[in-house]
Amino acid sequence: SKKHKVCIVGSGNWGTTIAKVVAENTQQHGDVFEPEVQMWVFEEEYQIPKDSKHASTELASKPQKLTELINTLHENVKYLPDIPLPKNIIANPDLASAVHDATILVFNLPHQFIGRICDQLKGKIVPYARGISCIKGLEVSDKGCQLFSDSIGAKLGIYCGALSGANIATEVAQEKFSETTVAYEPPSMDSQHPTPSGTPGGSPHGSHLDLTQLDGQIQRPTRGSQKQRLMALPAEYPPLHHTNMTKLFHRPYFHVHLINDVAGVSLGGALKNIVALAAGFVDGLGWGDNAKAAVMRVGIVEEVKFGKTFFGDSVRTATFTEESCGVADLITSCSGGRNFRCAKMAVKEGKGIGEIEARELNGQKLQGTSTAYEVHEFLRSEGKEGEFPLFTAVWRILEGEKRPEDIPDMINVEARKA
Ligand code: NAD
Ligand code: 13P
Repeated sequence: SKKHKVCIVGSGNWGTTIAKVVAENTQQHGDVFEPEVQMWVFEEEYQIPKDSKHASTELASKPQKLTELINTLHENVKYLPDIPLPKNIIANPDLASAVHDATILVFNLPHQFIGRICDQLKGKIVPYARGISCIKGLEVSDKGCQLFSDSIGAKLGIYCGALSGANIATEVAQEKFSETTVAYEPPSMDSQHPTPSGTPGGSPHGSHLDLTQLDGQIQRPTRGSQKQRLMALPAEYPPLHHTNMTKLFHRPYFHVHLINDVAGVSLGGALKNIVALAAGFVDGLGWGDNAKAAVMRVGIVEEVKFGKTFFGDSVRTATFTEESCGVADLITSCSGGRNFRCAKMAVKEGKGIGEIEARELNGQKLQGTSTAYEVHEFLRSEGKEGEFPLFTAVWRILEGEKRPEDIPDMINVEARKA
């Protein structure tokens, strides 16, 4: 029988970290997966810096292709330095060859690039592939506001779930404990153990993953999942039910919690990036923890409201208040995330956040700034800017219409009622 071949589409700070997690698991679960993990790399030349531990090697004498550096040093020296990678990760600059024959595609790159990548993937993937999106962002177009799991699924004609959580990449890469949330509803044809519908409650609260119990716990989602016709996985492959999909991500230091609220999982990850900018703004003013907590409180309220308003009642409040992809991601992102740190520096130094991003992140990308613009464009088209005062405030600050000092007034709902 065949084994599942996995490709990670993306190789930034989080993309490389997830490649590490997955490669450890494909090595461990050789009954289900081929050990080798392809990682598609947006190729670039990289000069190993003088203070790197690799500075004395021949590779440091001139700029080298990033894929060659990764495959030789087993380290992504640019986007995840000082983290040894499993040798079964193969960095590949050629997208078509990286995804060739892959039955599992893990999408993990800054959200602004995924549209073009999907265009390039059309006709290059096996038609029965399954996807997981680790992307934190939303696709806003004249069609409205879409989850990336849905838009990837629709563009490629495959089922795509979502993974999102309180997961600052470097901490996960260092194998410090964290949790994550996966929303994956395998098409029933993929499962030798069909998922019973009607299980109460949706999210299996309370306990973490028990791989042997998993299949019976998940209620089928009603929204946020793709409705297109899917091609069945050939019978010679192991089933891609919850258990096997979870085996791909769960590690002793990276606990997977499976729920069925695809929209809630994706929205928590996307919208907290806007909130983290606001937290950075008030922290940059030196306003202390109470101000930051106020921004976070309003932020989570707006996240839930956004979900309920635009993605229907199947979006569960508990996804935001009880899961890693909700409140926990908000907390970690507003403590040490890149959006938070860059927004704080921008205010302290009186500079634009784009300038700080370029100076501080060595090619990594902020997702909050573009998401603030995209969400604002969508809210304006819906005539609902006023109902999301914090999201709107962040956009107005980025636009230079308002100052961080104006945030309290802009989110003061009582004053607005008066
Ligand atoms: P990153 O911020 O490290 O971005 C750099 C990556 O973008 C590099 O791989 C680079 O090659 C690639 N890139 C640059 N230009 C490109 C182009 N034109 N086309 C395609 N790729 C291009 O990326 P990341 O941290 O891996 O983030 C990926 C997603 O994961 C984002 O949505 C992010 O919000 C999310 N995420 C990040 C973290 C984190 O801590 N880094 C944690 C959880 C989720
Ligand atoms: P930043 O992109 O702001 O670093 O957030 C990382 C993240 O998503 C942590 O869960």
